[in-house]
Amino acid sequence: MNTVYLFSPPAPVSVPVAGQDAVFPVRRIFCVGRNYAEHAREMGAHDQAAGLEPPFFFSKPADALVSGEGELAVSYPPQTANLHHEIELVAALGQGGAQIAADQALACVLAYGVGLDLTRRDVQARAKEKGHPWDMSKGFDQSAVCAPLRLAAECGHLTQGRIWLEINGQLRQDGDLAQMGWPVAQIIANLSTWVTLAAGDLIYTGTPAGVGALLRGDVLRAGVAGLPELHARII
Ligand code: MN
Repeated sequence: MNTVYLFSPPAPVSVPVAGQDAVFPVRRIFCVGRNYAEHAREMGAHDQAAGLEPPFFFSKPADALVSGEGELAVSYPPQTANLHHEIELVAALGQGGAQIAADQALACVLAYGVGLDLTRRDVQARAKEKGHPWDMSKGFDQSAVCAPLRLAAECGHLTQGRIWLEINGQLRQDGDLAQMGWPVAQIIANLSTWVTLAAGDLIYTGTPAGVGALLRGDVLRAGVAGLPELHARII
């Protein structure tokens, strides 16, 4: 029997794929916190003499995504005076599962992309102070930006290479994927112990040091070695 909806369901959110007519349909957006030691320190974490802490995760709604070809327009959000940029490698899953073994995990990654995890840093600081949820600091409208993806079959699985971000021509973030505390395979394995992953899931894998504030009118250019660049403007 055909389901009759009270109103038309929203169209799926999608990301273009370089060199392909088909686009990547997005199911869910997961993000990893503090996955580069230098960024963890700039956010106030103490050095972990005992070693790396387990990864932690948060989510953004799929419809928080801004993607497409060319320069992406991103609206400066309400309820903040301190919108921060976080440049991140995005892993786009073509298959999923639960309790995925780390040595099987990269087989789930269909494509990679360059993404921005936009953050209302002032709202996040208040949430941390009060022990409140992070949702409104991380999962607001247009908070997840993603450049066109490249198929892993073309670029290989990314474990090292430059990750960088420029604002108005000035370099602000400059790191290397090899600095990730938890590489992509480990992130997928750990995340799949918490939720069942599936095709369409995007995973934002954390940001290197150098996060900072964005202003209306800022022009952003960002990249990860081997992937299509991200171009955006804050409006
Ligand atoms: Mn982030």
